Order: sequence, then C-alpha cells, then structure tokens
Amino acid sequence: MALVQRIPISSSSVRNWQQARTNLSPICCLHYNTASSSSPFTEKHSVERYQRDQWLYKAVEPTPPSTPSPLPFEDEVFVRENDIASQLPELKKLLAVLREKRVKGCKGGDCGPGDVYLVGTGPGDPELLTLKAVRVIQSADLLLYDRLVSNDVLELIAPDARLLYVGKTAGYHSRTQEEIHELLLSFAEAGATVVRLKGGDPLVFGRGGEEMDFLQQQGIRVQVIPGITAASGIAAELGIPLTHRGVATSVRFLTGHSRKGGTDPLFVAENAADPDTTLVVYMGLGTLPSLAQKLMDHGLPCDTPAVAVERGTTPLQRTVFAELKDFAIEIQSAGLVSPTLIIIGKVVELSPLWPHCTKESSCLVESR
Ligand code: SAH
Repeated sequence: MALVQRIPISSSSVRNWQQARTNLSPICCLHYNTASSSSPFTEKHSVERYQRDQWLYKAVEPTPPSTPSPLPFEDEVFVRENDIASQLPELKKLLAVLREKRVKGCKGGDCGPGDVYLVGTGPGDPELLTLKAVRVIQSADLLLYDRLVSNDVLELIAPDARLLYVGKTAGYHSRTQEEIHELLLSFAEAGATVVRLKGGDPLVFGRGGEEMDFLQQQGIRVQVIPGITAASGIAAELGIPLTHRGVATSVRFLTGHSRKGGTDPLFVAENAADPDTTLVVYMGLGTLPSLAQKLMDHGLPCDTPAVAVERGTTPLQRTVFAELKDFAIEIQSAGLVSPTLIIIGKVVELSPLWPHCTKESSCLVESR
C-alpha cells in the first residue's frame, strides 16, 4: 500500500490573470505554467517564476522605444533587485489612486485603515489550506508572497487582486523585509485588505512576529490565519507520529540556520540530544553534517532513525531515510535541495515507509 498520496498536477497550462475590474490601471498580470515540471520552491525556480510574473506598465508609463533591453540576466540577484525596485513605483502610484478614492469615498467620515492578514498556506498541498485562509485569500486587494507559497495556492487568488513576489535571496534579505513592512503599512493605511502569504504557519520560523509587531505599533490590526507547519504536514504525509506513547514524549522544532552563515547549527546539539524527543529541523540542510555529528557526540545513538523530505506534500516530494550515522552522506548523494525538512528520532521508524529501507542503510523515495 502506498502511504504517500500524490497530488495530481493541475492540467491547466498558462494562466493569464485578467485586468482589474476597477478603473485603476493594471499594475500586474501573473502568468505561470502550473504544469511546469520544475520545482515550485527552489530559489532558482523562484527567480524564474518572478521573471514570468509580468508587470505591465503600459497604461501608466509606456517604455520609451530607445530604452535598452532590460537587465543582465546572468546575475539573478541583480535582476530581482531591479525588478522589485521597478515595481515599487507602480505600487506607489496605485497607492496614490487608492488614497484619493478613499478620501472621496469617506466624505469626511471616519474611515479606519484596512486589515492585514498573515496567512499560513501550509507546506504546499493546497488542500491543506484552512477554509478561513481560502476566504481571506479570495477577498484580498493586495497579496505579498514568497518562495514557499506554491503555485497551486496562488491559483486561488481572485483575478483582480494585485500580487507581489517578495521572496528573499542572500544579500537582499534585510532591505526586502523593510520594503515589505512599508508596503503592508501603506496599503493598509489606504484602506486595502492586505494579505501576507507565508509558507507553513506564519508564526513558525516565518518572521510573522516581526511583521505583526511593526504593524501593531503603527496602529494596524493584524490577524493571523494559522497554517499547517511543514513538520505537521510532512509527518502526516509519511505516517510519522511526532510524539508517540513510549517512544517520544516531546517534539522540538529547531532552526538549522547558523548565526553567521557558517556550518554550525546554533550550538543546539548539547541539549537536543535526547532519545525521547523528536527533533524537527527547519532550514537544516547546510548545517546537517555538523548537527548530526554533534548529536551523536552528545549521546544520541548513531542508529537513530532520520528522514529528510524535500518539497514535502507536493508532487515533487523526495524523501531520504537513513540512520543518523549515515544521514548526512545519504542526503548529499541524493542531492536534496531547499526546502527540505529533517526529522530525527525513534518515531521515524514508525513510518510505513521505513521497513523498506532496513536492508540498506538508507532509502530514497521519489515521487511518482
Ligand atoms: N513557516 C514555515 C517554515 C519557514 S522556514 C512552516 O511553518 O513550515 C523554511 C523551512 O521550512 C525550509 O527551509 C524547510 O526546512 C521547511 N519547509 C517548509 N515547507 C517545506 C516543504 N514543503 N518541504 C520541505 N521542507 C519545508
């Protein structure tokens, strides 16, 4: 019996979002191919997706014929910085129109700011969205999303909604975060319903807390719609109980991020090496070799079962099972890429997929 249910890939090909119903100039049309065989997640794909997200300026500011062809595509970060920078003026123009309409609409009445929603979209499978998330997504005026939000989720967005990709890349992180804060605030102040889409749950390694803090300090009401965090979605997919009587009395979510971009996972191994605790490591691919070694050095048995899941709950899911001593090397030889979630603990052995691996030290399970 196959435990891992696969989600059929959508058959729709290229989808063009229609011009807004309002009489505002269109600022964005989204084109993407949902039948694409590439990952909806990897950084590389995000850039490709971003480049496919066509921003139309014609109605507002026609490009002069003499303008040299846009950007040097060999430098992806440069491309993205420039694309985002070039979009911001259009958003500012839209903002000005919204403000003007609002002033007229209010006629001196008391018009409060719009709401901001931080919406968790789950790990990728759109069927893991909550009903509340779907309702809020469909009522949004402006949506900001990043690379963990899958194309299937973006399909739910109303055709007249404005959609902005605000994914992060190395070296671009902090400036984007400020711009995100600024955008959320400005549009909420102009009365728009703004949705910030976050992969998984917005409050689990999602920087949702920072955005909430900032907006609340500015007097904006922020509502959080929880999402299924990668740990829960992926554990369910593989049939791994994160806690289990007599096997694991607690579960711990860790970040694998090292503080200075090195390979050392935040010195957590000392107090994480507990055989009765399930460890779930987010963003842990880069630091896994060091973490695994340290966990063993601090007493976690080297035959502790572990699993790494790339693009979990999507049709492209890949899974590597191994004992802790072999884990890093097996992940490396499978060539897993981000986003990958790591689960370490005796509960991993309870997955119906685990017995298939016992003859060998590891096992790679590919999607069909
Ligand atoms: N807020 C998110 C986590 C964001 S941190 C949540 O609650 O799930 C990003 C990390 O989450 C990734 O590096 C990866 O470790 C994990 N992750 C998120 N979605 C994933 C997916 N579909 N498959 C595998 N890992 C995922």
